[in-house]
Amino acid sequence: MSEQHSFQAETQQLLNILIHSLYTEKEIFLRELISNASDALNRLQFEMLTNDDVQDPQADLEIHIEFDEEAKTLTVSDTGIGMNRAEIMAGLGTIAKSGAKAFIEAMRERPESAAAIIGQFGVGFYSAFMVAKQVDVISRSFRPEDEAVKWSATGGTNYTLETAEKDLRGTEVVVHLKDDEEEFTRGFRIKDIIRRHSDYVAFPIFVGDDEEPANKQQAIWRRAPSEVEDEEYDSFYRMLTMDFAGASHHIHMRADVPMQFYALLFIPGSGQQNMFSPRSEPGLKLYARKVLIEEYNRDLLPEYLSFVQGVVDSEDLPLSVTRESIQATRVMASLKRTITRRVLSELKRMAKNDRDKYLTLFQEFGAYLKQGLVIDTEDRSDLEPLMFFQTTHDDDPSAFHTLDDYVERMSENQDDIYYVVADDYASGSRSPHLDAFRQRGIEVLYFTHPVDAMLPMGLADFKGRKLVSVDSAELDLEDVGAAPEQEESAQAGLGLDSLAALTERVKAILGARVSDVRDSKTLVGSPARLVSEDDSSNRYMYRINRLLDKDYELPVKALELNPRHPLMHNLSGMIAGGGDAGLIDTVVEQVFETALLQDGIHPDPSSMAERLTLLMQAATGSASADLDFADVKTVISEPAPAETPQIDLGDLDVEDGEERPTPP
Ligand code: ADP
Repeated sequence: MSEQHSFQAETQQLLNILIHSLYTEKEIFLRELISNASDALNRLQFEMLTNDDVQDPQADLEIHIEFDEEAKTLTVSDTGIGMNRAEIMAGLGTIAKSGAKAFIEAMRERPESAAAIIGQFGVGFYSAFMVAKQVDVISRSFRPEDEAVKWSATGGTNYTLETAEKDLRGTEVVVHLKDDEEEFTRGFRIKDIIRRHSDYVAFPIFVGDDEEPANKQQAIWRRAPSEVEDEEYDSFYRMLTMDFAGASHHIHMRADVPMQFYALLFIPGSGQQNMFSPRSEPGLKLYARKVLIEEYNRDLLPEYLSFVQGVVDSEDLPLSVTRESIQATRVMASLKRTITRRVLSELKRMAKNDRDKYLTLFQEFGAYLKQGLVIDTEDRSDLEPLMFFQTTHDDDPSAFHTLDDYVERMSENQDDIYYVVADDYASGSRSPHLDAFRQRGIEVLYFTHPVDAMLPMGLADFKGRKLVSVDSAELDLEDVGAAPEQEESAQAGLGLDSLAALTERVKAILGARVSDVRDSKTLVGSPARLVSEDDSSNRYMYRINRLLDKDYELPVKALELNPRHPLMHNLSGMIAGGGDAGLIDTVVEQVFETALLQDGIHPDPSSMAERLTLLMQAATGSASADLDFADVKTVISEPAPAETPQIDLGDLDVEDGEERPTPP
């Protein structure tokens, strides 16, 4: 007896689109059905590792395709895991992950790409309705006690279910072809589709009465690299990831000693997570002796290489179902070592020999590698040559330099490597901290990626040279670089007394918001800067916390004033002459907040607008008495008692915008 069930609303909509479709490349429906059959066989194989109470334990793991020109049917059958009644209703009546909705939307935008994208949405089965007026699915679960069941639909709003006769375990999909689709009942056409789309499928696919399978079944990673065409790598990558932008690089490894394994790895072209990617997690596909053991294995590469996609297949791994028992094997540890070394050496070679290609990749994944430098210190020497920075050397934001480039250019009396931490290149290049460096011709690295603020934690030195921040209070450039020539026109510094009065006054105004106020020996064009008296390697973590939108505490720094700057002369004069206290306070507040702004750490820049307007009024002639300085609020509150900064690398999302798997 057959019962009616109605499809989920999205499924109905999807079917409607597919049935009335005029898409080219309809042939991919066969690839989708074969891929489902292959998945079902994989799952059965996996089940049989631990369970021998299955229906037909001796049945060959095969896919068969029958066709009937007269009846206009095409049948794809497998001896895989099968489905019982509940499973068939769940699998073929509803669509998981709201795949249909996403697919329908994508189709509205790019109807021509339907065939290419359909498999990405977990709706592959339904693509049969592009060529079918009716589809029957007869399935028998691997569980011996479950009865066989038949599902049938014509693409309307309902499907029917009934008990069926089927002895052999597995699934049979009968496609009743539409009138103008008889090409899919011709053996040569079917075999041609299989060769083009499903050749690598690991189980034999028999067409009609043929004794030889139509597919080579050889997984691409098990073939000799010299025999694999670039196009094959490319299409394998696309199938694996549905990343139609393609990979930027592939690494194909085979080894027999000391352990036997194959690996085919890809570095994606883009770090942006493809929202339709079927690979929802980072990790490599792991096969042991041709059986898919784990879809996402994260033990084969360090976290900082989690952007790498691909497959690893080893004959030396135990066929085991628990992750723990695989992970614990010595083979895994040595696989990880070998694969990681190879990826790193490949990257190093590219960085050296093909810098342009490497830099495109570095733009996408540099943040991961930088985190590796901070977290996996044992790989440090491999990661260091992979780091590239913009520098003041050419002040060209499009030019990137290695640490080696920098060291080579260092002057004889320079010991340390200098860097400036900023939000971006533009603000970094305007940093007041660079005054003295520019004057002396000393190169400075720009640390402008959010992750760069962590770098000092992993990269305290390079080849024996310390990395020193340009805002370190300790910094003394006296003996470094060529001493600047005093320009005739340069303004003389303030006298000692005036300077003391100025710093006292500034201290009184800023209170605990600064740790000290003193004069600067290095500032040239800027009136002031904030220097850090904390030289701990995690002193920039607050910049990261700030991006993470966490409560972050502005570090208390020392304010250096430039005694040669006209503004300081003016202020000093006002103080000496007993000038308007409201105006003096306001100017000092603004000097402080401008320094915060220049370091990219002002918590609320627009709050300065009111004060700036008053200052402009004063500058354009309003009498101070008419200006209400007292009303201007300061946004930087006095700091709470000191606490150690929180280091929480786990929360750091390395890409802005799109979600990416996050290395810890
Ligand atoms: P996807 O395969 O991407 O999940 P499909 O629409 O192609 O999406 O299939 C839906 C579900 O139906 C599958 O997840 C699977 O559970 C089930 N299914 C489809 N074909 C088979 C098959 N040949 N054997 C067993 N289960 C199948």
